[in-house]
Amino acid sequence: MRNRRAEVIAGHQLQPASLSMGYGYRPELSEGALKSPIFQTSTFAFRSAEDGKRFFQIATGQIEPEEGERPGLIYSRLNNPDLEILEDRLCLWEDAEMGLAFGSGMAAIATTLLTYLRPGDVLLHSEPLYGGTTHLVNDMLPEFGVVSVSFDASDTRDDIESKLSAASGDALRMILIETPANPTNDLIDIRMCADIASTRAAGDRRPLLAVDNTFLGPLWQHPLKHGADLVIYSATKYLGGHSDLIAGAVLGPAEHLRPIAATRTYLGTMADPWTGWLLMRSLETLHLRMTRQTDTAGKVARFLAEHPRVSRVRYLDLLDPDDPQAAIYRRQCLGPGAMISFEVEWGEAGAFRFLNALRLIKLAVSLGSTESLAEHPASMTHCAVPPEEKVRTGVTEGLVRLSVGVEEADDLITDLTQALAAADEKEENR
Ligand code: PLP
Repeated sequence: MRNRRAEVIAGHQLQPASLSMGYGYRPELSEGALKSPIFQTSTFAFRSAEDGKRFFQIATGQIEPEEGERPGLIYSRLNNPDLEILEDRLCLWEDAEMGLAFGSGMAAIATTLLTYLRPGDVLLHSEPLYGGTTHLVNDMLPEFGVVSVSFDASDTRDDIESKLSAASGDALRMILIETPANPTNDLIDIRMCADIASTRAAGDRRPLLAVDNTFLGPLWQHPLKHGADLVIYSATKYLGGHSDLIAGAVLGPAEHLRPIAATRTYLGTMADPWTGWLLMRSLETLHLRMTRQTDTAGKVARFLAEHPRVSRVRYLDLLDPDDPQAAIYRRQCLGPGAMISFEVEWGEAGAFRFLNALRLIKLAVSLGSTESLAEHPASMTHCAVPPEEKVRTGVTEGLVRLSVGVEEADDLITDLTQALAAADEKEENR
Protein backbone atom coordinates (compact mmCIF):
# COMPACT_ATOMS: atom_id res chain seq x y z
CA MET A 1 0.00 0.00 0.00
CA ARG A 2 1.07 3.56 -0.70
CA ASN A 3 3.36 5.67 1.45
CA ARG A 4 1.65 9.04 1.08
CA ARG A 5 4.44 10.88 2.99
CA ALA A 6 6.86 10.26 0.10
CA GLU A 7 4.65 12.29 -2.25
CA VAL A 8 5.02 15.73 -0.65
CA ILE A 9 7.97 18.17 -0.47
CA ALA A 10 7.53 21.17 1.84
CA GLY A 11 3.77 20.87 1.58
CA HIS A 12 3.90 20.65 -2.22
CA GLN A 13 2.08 17.63 -3.68
CA LEU A 14 4.25 15.92 -6.31
CA GLN A 15 2.59 14.74 -9.54
CA PRO A 16 2.54 11.08 -10.63
CA ALA A 17 4.67 11.92 -13.71
CA SER A 18 7.43 13.18 -11.37
CA LEU A 19 7.14 10.24 -8.97
CA SER A 20 7.07 7.46 -11.57
CA MET A 21 10.86 7.10 -11.76
CA GLY A 22 11.63 6.32 -8.12
CA TYR A 23 8.52 6.08 -5.96
CA GLY A 24 8.32 3.06 -3.67
CA TYR A 25 11.91 1.91 -4.32
CA ARG A 26 14.79 2.20 -1.81
CA PRO A 27 18.25 1.93 -3.46
CA GLU A 28 19.94 1.17 -0.12
CA LEU A 29 18.12 -2.18 -0.05
CA SER A 30 19.61 -3.14 -3.46
CA GLU A 31 23.35 -2.25 -3.33
CA GLY A 32 22.54 1.35 -4.27
CA ALA A 33 21.23 0.41 -7.72
CA LEU A 34 19.42 3.52 -9.00
CA LYS A 35 16.81 1.38 -10.68
CA SER A 36 14.99 -1.52 -9.12
CA PRO A 37 16.65 -4.81 -10.09
CA ILE A 38 14.48 -7.56 -11.58
CA PHE A 39 13.82 -9.82 -8.59
CA GLN A 40 13.77 -12.93 -10.75
CA THR A 41 13.18 -15.36 -7.93
CA SER A 42 10.39 -17.75 -7.06
CA THR A 43 10.99 -17.70 -3.31
CA PHE A 44 12.61 -15.57 -0.56
CA ALA A 45 14.97 -16.69 2.23
CA PHE A 46 13.65 -15.94 5.75
CA ARG A 47 16.12 -14.57 8.31
CA SER A 48 14.59 -16.85 10.92
CA ALA A 49 11.78 -19.38 11.31
CA GLU A 50 9.98 -16.83 13.50
CA ASP A 51 10.03 -14.34 10.61
CA GLY A 52 8.65 -16.96 8.24
CA LYS A 53 5.82 -17.74 10.64
CA ARG A 54 4.94 -14.05 11.09
CA PHE A 55 5.02 -13.37 7.33
CA PHE A 56 2.57 -16.24 6.74
CA GLN A 57 0.31 -15.11 9.58
CA ILE A 58 0.09 -11.63 8.04
CA ALA A 59 -0.28 -12.89 4.47
CA THR A 60 -3.13 -15.22 5.41
CA GLY A 61 -4.91 -12.61 7.53
CA GLN A 62 -4.41 -14.43 10.87
CA ILE A 63 -2.84 -11.30 12.38
CA GLU A 64 -2.78 -7.64 11.36
CA PRO A 65 0.60 -6.00 10.54
CA GLU A 66 1.92 -3.35 12.97
CA GLU A 67 1.54 0.30 11.91
CA GLY A 68 3.87 0.83 8.91
CA GLU A 69 4.93 -2.85 8.72
CA ARG A 70 5.00 -4.22 5.17
CA PRO A 71 4.11 -7.87 4.71
CA GLY A 72 7.37 -9.87 4.47
CA LEU A 73 8.40 -11.42 1.18
CA ILE A 74 7.48 -15.11 0.97
CA TYR A 75 7.01 -16.53 -2.53
CA SER A 76 6.46 -14.74 -5.87
CA ARG A 77 2.90 -16.01 -6.27
CA LEU A 78 2.06 -13.98 -3.14
CA ASN A 79 4.39 -11.00 -3.47
CA ASN A 80 7.56 -9.81 -5.18
CA PRO A 81 9.33 -6.41 -4.96
CA ASP A 82 8.87 -5.64 -8.67
CA LEU A 83 5.13 -6.13 -8.34
CA GLU A 84 4.86 -4.26 -5.04
CA ILE A 85 6.71 -1.18 -6.34
CA LEU A 86 4.70 -1.29 -9.57
CA GLU A 87 1.41 -1.56 -7.65
CA ASP A 88 2.34 1.44 -5.48
CA ARG A 89 3.16 3.48 -8.59
CA LEU A 90 -0.07 2.51 -10.34
CA CYS A 91 -2.00 3.85 -7.34
CA LEU A 92 -0.47 7.33 -7.75
CA TRP A 93 -2.33 8.17 -10.95
CA GLU A 94 -5.80 7.97 -9.48
CA ASP A 95 -5.13 8.27 -5.77
CA ALA A 96 -6.01 4.64 -5.10
CA GLU A 97 -5.25 3.06 -1.74
CA MET A 98 -4.14 -0.32 -3.09
CA GLY A 99 -3.27 -1.94 -6.42
CA LEU A 100 -2.76 -5.46 -7.71
CA ALA A 101 -0.90 -6.54 -10.85
CA PHE A 102 -2.05 -9.52 -12.91
CA GLY A 103 -0.75 -11.70 -15.73
CA SER A 104 -3.26 -10.19 -18.19
CA GLY A 105 -6.28 -7.89 -18.32
CA MET A 106 -8.49 -10.99 -18.53
CA ALA A 107 -6.78 -12.41 -15.42
CA ALA A 108 -7.57 -9.13 -13.61
CA ILE A 109 -11.23 -9.23 -14.70
CA ALA A 110 -11.74 -12.96 -14.06
CA THR A 111 -10.02 -12.89 -10.65
CA THR A 112 -12.15 -9.90 -9.58
CA LEU A 113 -15.43 -11.48 -10.72
CA LEU A 114 -14.59 -14.86 -9.18
CA THR A 115 -13.82 -13.16 -5.86
CA TYR A 116 -17.21 -11.56 -5.53
CA LEU A 117 -19.76 -13.57 -7.54
CA ARG A 118 -21.49 -16.71 -6.26
CA PRO A 119 -24.26 -18.91 -7.75
CA GLY A 120 -27.55 -17.01 -7.87
CA ASP A 121 -25.89 -13.57 -7.86
CA VAL A 122 -26.74 -11.04 -10.55
CA LEU A 123 -23.99 -9.32 -12.53
CA LEU A 124 -25.15 -6.16 -14.30
CA HIS A 125 -22.86 -5.22 -17.17
CA SER A 126 -22.65 -2.72 -19.99
CA GLU A 127 -22.52 -3.57 -23.71
CA PRO A 128 -20.43 -3.66 -25.78
CA LEU A 129 -17.59 -5.13 -23.76
CA TYR A 130 -14.24 -6.35 -25.04
CA GLY A 131 -14.91 -9.71 -26.80
CA GLY A 132 -13.01 -11.77 -24.19
CA THR A 133 -15.00 -10.18 -21.35
CA THR A 134 -18.23 -10.78 -23.31
CA HIS A 135 -17.39 -14.48 -23.53
CA LEU A 136 -16.62 -14.62 -19.80
CA VAL A 137 -19.90 -12.99 -18.71
CA ASN A 138 -22.21 -14.48 -21.37
CA ASP A 139 -20.86 -18.01 -21.73
CA MET A 140 -18.71 -18.94 -18.74
CA LEU A 141 -20.22 -17.29 -15.64
CA PRO A 142 -23.76 -18.62 -16.33
CA GLU A 143 -22.27 -22.12 -16.07
CA PHE A 144 -21.37 -21.22 -12.47
CA GLY A 145 -24.94 -20.03 -11.79
CA VAL A 146 -24.28 -16.29 -12.18
CA VAL A 147 -27.09 -14.36 -13.89
CA SER A 148 -25.87 -11.70 -16.35
CA VAL A 149 -28.06 -8.68 -17.10
CA SER A 150 -26.87 -6.28 -19.80
CA PHE A 151 -27.58 -2.70 -20.79
CA ASP A 152 -26.08 -0.23 -23.24
CA ALA A 153 -25.47 3.50 -23.51
CA SER A 154 -28.98 4.13 -24.87
CA ASP A 155 -30.66 2.70 -21.75
CA THR A 156 -31.93 5.15 -19.13
CA ARG A 157 -31.69 4.46 -15.44
CA ASP A 158 -35.37 3.41 -15.46
CA ASP A 159 -34.68 0.93 -18.29
CA ILE A 160 -31.83 -0.57 -16.29
CA GLU A 161 -33.90 -0.79 -13.10
CA SER A 162 -36.69 -2.62 -15.03
CA LYS A 163 -34.19 -5.08 -16.49
CA LEU A 164 -32.83 -5.76 -13.00
CA SER A 165 -36.31 -6.26 -11.57
CA ALA A 166 -37.10 -8.75 -14.35
CA ALA A 167 -33.88 -10.74 -13.78
CA SER A 168 -34.22 -14.23 -12.34
CA GLY A 169 -31.26 -14.03 -9.91
CA ASP A 170 -31.33 -13.46 -6.16
CA ALA A 171 -29.62 -10.08 -5.76
CA LEU A 172 -27.40 -7.66 -7.63
CA ARG A 173 -23.83 -8.34 -6.47
CA MET A 174 -21.65 -6.56 -9.01
CA ILE A 175 -21.81 -4.01 -11.81
CA LEU A 176 -19.12 -4.20 -14.50
CA ILE A 177 -18.90 -1.41 -17.04
CA GLU A 178 -16.47 -0.58 -19.81
CA THR A 179 -16.41 3.13 -20.50
CA PRO A 180 -15.51 4.21 -23.13
CA ALA A 181 -16.57 0.89 -24.62
CA ASN A 182 -14.33 -1.14 -26.88
CA PRO A 183 -14.72 -0.61 -29.88
CA THR A 184 -17.47 2.03 -30.14
CA ASN A 185 -16.26 4.64 -27.60
CA ASP A 186 -19.78 4.61 -26.05
CA LEU A 187 -19.76 6.23 -22.61
CA ILE A 188 -21.56 4.88 -19.55
CA ASP A 189 -22.37 7.23 -16.67
CA ILE A 190 -20.25 5.97 -13.74
CA ARG A 191 -22.13 8.08 -11.16
CA MET A 192 -25.48 6.69 -12.32
CA CYS A 193 -24.15 3.12 -11.91
CA ALA A 194 -22.81 3.97 -8.44
CA ASP A 195 -26.27 5.25 -7.50
CA ILE A 196 -27.88 2.03 -8.75
CA ALA A 197 -25.39 0.07 -6.60
CA SER A 198 -26.27 2.17 -3.52
CA THR A 199 -30.02 1.75 -3.91
CA ARG A 200 -29.62 -2.02 -4.34
CA ALA A 201 -27.63 -2.53 -1.14
CA ALA A 202 -28.98 -5.39 0.97
CA GLY A 203 -27.97 -4.96 4.62
CA ASP A 204 -24.22 -4.32 4.71
CA ARG A 205 -23.79 -5.96 1.28
CA ARG A 206 -23.61 -3.21 -1.31
CA PRO A 207 -23.07 -4.30 -4.93
CA LEU A 208 -19.58 -3.35 -6.10
CA LEU A 209 -19.08 -1.20 -9.18
CA ALA A 210 -16.04 -2.17 -11.29
CA VAL A 211 -14.98 0.02 -14.23
CA ASP A 212 -12.74 -1.24 -17.03
CA ASN A 213 -10.76 1.95 -17.67
CA THR A 214 -8.45 0.52 -20.34
CA PHE A 215 -9.49 2.92 -23.14
CA LEU A 216 -8.79 6.22 -21.36
CA GLY A 217 -6.12 4.95 -19.01
CA PRO A 218 -5.22 6.69 -15.77
CA LEU A 219 -4.56 10.01 -17.49
CA TRP A 220 -8.01 10.74 -18.85
CA GLN A 221 -10.53 9.17 -16.47
CA HIS A 222 -10.50 8.48 -12.71
CA PRO A 223 -13.50 6.22 -12.01
CA LEU A 224 -12.86 6.04 -8.24
CA LYS A 225 -13.60 9.78 -8.03
CA HIS A 226 -17.01 9.19 -9.65
CA GLY A 227 -18.19 6.49 -7.26
CA ALA A 228 -16.56 3.31 -8.66
CA ASP A 229 -15.29 0.75 -6.15
CA LEU A 230 -12.76 -0.93 -8.43
CA VAL A 231 -10.80 0.17 -11.50
CA ILE A 232 -9.61 -2.55 -13.87
CA TYR A 233 -6.98 -2.31 -16.60
CA SER A 234 -5.63 -4.35 -19.39
CA ALA A 235 -2.08 -3.14 -18.64
CA THR A 236 -1.14 -4.65 -22.00
CA LYS A 237 -2.48 -1.40 -23.48
CA TYR A 238 -1.52 2.17 -22.43
CA LEU A 239 0.18 1.19 -19.16
CA GLY A 240 2.57 -1.13 -21.01
CA GLY A 241 2.38 0.93 -24.17
CA HIS A 242 4.96 -0.83 -26.36
CA SER A 243 3.17 -3.99 -27.62
CA ASP A 244 5.72 -6.12 -25.80
CA LEU A 245 3.94 -7.48 -22.72
CA ILE A 246 0.61 -8.87 -21.48
CA ALA A 247 -0.58 -7.74 -18.02
CA GLY A 248 -3.52 -6.43 -16.01
CA ALA A 249 -4.24 -4.40 -12.89
CA VAL A 250 -6.99 -3.69 -10.38
CA LEU A 251 -7.00 -0.58 -8.14
CA GLY A 252 -9.24 0.56 -5.29
CA PRO A 253 -9.71 0.68 -1.52
CA ALA A 254 -7.84 -2.00 0.47
CA GLU A 255 -11.08 -3.42 1.91
CA HIS A 256 -12.21 -4.40 -1.62
CA LEU A 257 -8.73 -5.32 -2.90
CA ARG A 258 -7.61 -7.66 -0.10
CA PRO A 259 -10.14 -10.40 -0.99
CA ILE A 260 -9.04 -10.12 -4.65
CA ALA A 261 -5.39 -10.45 -3.57
CA ALA A 262 -6.29 -13.70 -1.77
CA THR A 263 -8.02 -15.07 -4.90
CA ARG A 264 -4.99 -14.06 -6.97
CA THR A 265 -2.73 -16.00 -4.62
CA TYR A 266 -4.77 -19.20 -4.92
CA LEU A 267 -5.48 -18.94 -8.66
CA GLY A 268 -1.92 -17.82 -9.45
CA THR A 269 -3.06 -15.02 -11.75
CA MET A 270 -0.34 -12.51 -10.74
CA ALA A 271 2.13 -10.93 -13.17
CA ASP A 272 5.73 -12.18 -13.18
CA PRO A 273 8.70 -10.05 -11.95
CA TRP A 274 10.05 -9.32 -15.44
CA THR A 275 6.66 -8.02 -16.60
CA GLY A 276 6.45 -5.95 -13.41
CA TRP A 277 9.83 -4.41 -14.17
CA LEU A 278 8.88 -3.70 -17.80
CA LEU A 279 5.68 -1.99 -16.63
CA MET A 280 7.65 0.21 -14.23
CA ARG A 281 9.81 1.28 -17.13
CA SER A 282 6.69 1.98 -19.21
CA LEU A 283 5.08 4.10 -16.50
CA GLU A 284 8.00 6.54 -16.63
CA THR A 285 6.78 7.69 -20.05
CA LEU A 286 3.03 7.18 -19.58
CA HIS A 287 2.27 10.89 -19.37
CA LEU A 288 4.47 11.74 -22.37
CA ARG A 289 3.07 8.95 -24.50
CA MET A 290 -0.59 9.48 -23.72
CA THR A 291 -0.54 13.26 -24.16
CA ARG A 292 1.23 12.92 -27.52
CA GLN A 293 -1.09 10.11 -28.66
CA THR A 294 -4.17 12.13 -27.71
CA ASP A 295 -2.90 15.23 -29.48
CA THR A 296 -2.23 13.22 -32.66
CA ALA A 297 -5.54 11.33 -32.42
CA GLY A 298 -7.44 14.64 -32.43
CA LYS A 299 -5.82 15.59 -35.77
CA VAL A 300 -6.45 12.14 -37.26
CA ALA A 301 -10.09 12.08 -36.08
CA ARG A 302 -10.78 15.50 -37.62
CA PHE A 303 -9.24 14.33 -40.91
CA LEU A 304 -11.42 11.18 -40.91
CA ALA A 305 -14.57 13.15 -40.05
CA GLU A 306 -14.11 15.23 -43.20
CA HIS A 307 -13.25 12.33 -45.52
CA PRO A 308 -16.06 11.62 -48.04
CA ARG A 309 -15.64 7.83 -47.85
CA VAL A 310 -15.75 7.67 -44.06
CA SER A 311 -18.82 7.89 -41.85
CA ARG A 312 -19.79 7.76 -38.17
CA VAL A 313 -16.39 8.72 -36.76
CA ARG A 314 -16.52 8.02 -33.03
CA TYR A 315 -14.02 10.09 -31.13
CA LEU A 316 -14.87 11.66 -27.80
CA ASP A 317 -13.73 15.14 -28.75
CA LEU A 318 -16.05 15.11 -31.78
CA LEU A 319 -19.26 14.41 -29.86
CA ASP A 320 -22.13 16.75 -30.72
CA PRO A 321 -22.41 19.11 -27.70
CA ASP A 322 -26.17 18.36 -27.49
CA ASP A 323 -25.65 14.59 -27.44
CA PRO A 324 -26.29 13.20 -23.91
CA GLN A 325 -22.97 11.35 -24.36
CA ALA A 326 -21.22 14.74 -24.49
CA ALA A 327 -22.64 15.62 -21.07
CA ILE A 328 -21.21 12.38 -19.62
CA TYR A 329 -17.89 13.14 -21.34
CA ARG A 330 -17.66 16.63 -19.81
CA ARG A 331 -18.56 15.34 -16.35
CA GLN A 332 -16.45 12.22 -16.22
CA CYS A 333 -13.46 12.39 -18.57
CA LEU A 334 -10.32 14.51 -18.49
CA GLY A 335 -9.43 14.05 -22.17
CA PRO A 336 -10.59 12.23 -25.32
CA GLY A 337 -7.79 9.64 -25.48
CA ALA A 338 -6.41 8.15 -28.68
CA MET A 339 -8.98 5.53 -29.73
CA ILE A 340 -11.06 6.21 -32.83
CA SER A 341 -13.58 4.02 -34.58
CA PHE A 342 -15.19 4.78 -37.93
CA GLU A 343 -17.05 3.14 -40.78
CA VAL A 344 -15.75 2.73 -44.29
CA GLU A 345 -18.06 2.02 -47.23
CA TRP A 346 -18.75 -1.46 -48.65
CA GLY A 347 -18.99 -3.39 -45.34
CA GLU A 348 -16.45 -6.09 -44.50
CA ALA A 349 -14.99 -6.19 -48.03
CA GLY A 350 -14.33 -2.45 -47.96
CA ALA A 351 -12.92 -2.57 -44.44
CA PHE A 352 -10.59 -5.42 -45.41
CA ARG A 353 -9.38 -3.63 -48.56
CA PHE A 354 -8.67 -0.55 -46.47
CA LEU A 355 -6.83 -2.51 -43.75
CA ASN A 356 -4.80 -4.49 -46.30
CA ALA A 357 -3.66 -1.27 -47.98
CA LEU A 358 -2.26 0.38 -44.83
CA ARG A 359 1.50 0.77 -44.87
CA LEU A 360 2.63 2.69 -41.77
CA ILE A 361 -0.28 1.74 -39.51
CA LYS A 362 -0.03 -1.92 -38.49
CA LEU A 363 -2.93 -4.34 -39.01
CA ALA A 364 -3.10 -5.88 -35.53
CA VAL A 365 -5.39 -6.16 -32.53
CA SER A 366 -4.48 -4.55 -29.18
CA LEU A 367 -4.22 -0.83 -28.60
CA GLY A 368 -2.50 1.91 -26.63
CA SER A 369 0.95 1.26 -28.06
CA THR A 370 3.60 3.59 -29.42
CA GLU A 371 2.79 2.36 -32.94
CA SER A 372 -0.65 2.94 -34.49
CA LEU A 373 -2.75 -0.22 -34.87
CA ALA A 374 -5.91 -0.83 -36.88
CA GLU A 375 -8.28 -3.81 -36.83
CA HIS A 376 -11.76 -5.04 -37.79
CA PRO A 377 -13.72 -5.61 -34.53
CA ALA A 378 -16.64 -7.58 -36.09
CA SER A 379 -14.35 -10.39 -37.31
CA MET A 380 -11.46 -10.04 -34.87
CA THR A 381 -11.62 -8.70 -31.27
CA HIS A 382 -15.42 -8.93 -31.08
CA CYS A 383 -15.99 -12.09 -33.15
CA ALA A 384 -17.39 -13.81 -30.00
CA VAL A 385 -20.14 -11.20 -29.64
CA PRO A 386 -23.54 -12.61 -30.76
CA PRO A 387 -24.70 -11.12 -34.13
CA GLU A 388 -27.80 -9.42 -32.67
CA GLU A 389 -25.67 -7.76 -29.98
CA LYS A 390 -23.25 -6.54 -32.65
CA VAL A 391 -26.12 -4.91 -34.52
CA ARG A 392 -27.57 -3.40 -31.33
CA THR A 393 -24.24 -1.94 -30.19
CA GLY A 394 -23.00 -0.70 -33.57
CA VAL A 395 -20.22 -3.23 -34.19
CA THR A 396 -20.96 -3.18 -37.91
CA GLU A 397 -19.23 -4.96 -40.79
CA GLY A 398 -17.70 -1.69 -42.01
CA LEU A 399 -16.38 -0.62 -38.60
CA VAL A 400 -12.63 -0.12 -38.21
CA ARG A 401 -10.94 0.53 -34.86
CA LEU A 402 -7.83 2.68 -34.86
CA SER A 403 -5.44 3.09 -31.95
CA VAL A 404 -3.25 6.14 -32.56
CA GLY A 405 0.42 5.87 -31.58
CA VAL A 406 3.21 8.41 -31.24
CA GLU A 407 4.01 8.83 -34.96
CA GLU A 408 3.75 12.22 -36.72
CA ALA A 409 0.11 13.08 -37.47
CA ASP A 410 0.94 14.01 -41.09
CA ASP A 411 2.46 10.59 -41.73
CA LEU A 412 -0.58 8.80 -40.33
CA ILE A 413 -2.94 10.97 -42.37
CA THR A 414 -0.91 10.25 -45.52
CA ASP A 415 -1.18 6.51 -44.87
CA LEU A 416 -4.94 6.72 -44.18
CA THR A 417 -5.46 8.82 -47.32
CA GLN A 418 -3.73 6.30 -49.58
CA ALA A 419 -5.42 3.28 -47.94
CA LEU A 420 -8.89 4.84 -48.34
CA ALA A 421 -8.08 5.69 -51.96
CA ALA A 422 -6.75 2.19 -52.67
CA ALA A 423 -9.88 0.58 -51.21
CA ASP A 424 -12.04 2.97 -53.25
CA GLU A 425 -10.15 2.38 -56.50
CA LYS A 426 -10.50 -1.37 -56.21
CA GLU A 427 -14.24 -0.97 -55.63
CA GLU A 428 -14.55 1.14 -58.77
CA ASN A 429 -12.64 -1.49 -60.80
CA ARG A 430 -14.94 -4.32 -59.78
N1 PLP B 1 -10.45 -4.84 -21.41
C1 PLP B 1 -10.38 -4.20 -22.58
C2 PLP B 1 -11.16 -2.93 -22.75
C3 PLP B 1 -9.60 -4.68 -23.61
O1 PLP B 1 -9.53 -4.01 -24.78
C4 PLP B 1 -8.87 -5.90 -23.43
C5 PLP B 1 -8.04 -6.47 -24.50
O2 PLP B 1 -8.07 -6.03 -25.63
C6 PLP B 1 -8.99 -6.56 -22.20
C7 PLP B 1 -9.77 -6.00 -21.21
C8 PLP B 1 -8.25 -7.84 -21.95
O3 PLP B 1 -6.91 -7.57 -21.70
P1 PLP B 1 -5.70 -8.60 -21.96
O4 PLP B 1 -5.62 -8.82 -23.44
O5 PLP B 1 -4.52 -7.90 -21.38
O6 PLP B 1 -6.05 -9.86 -21.24
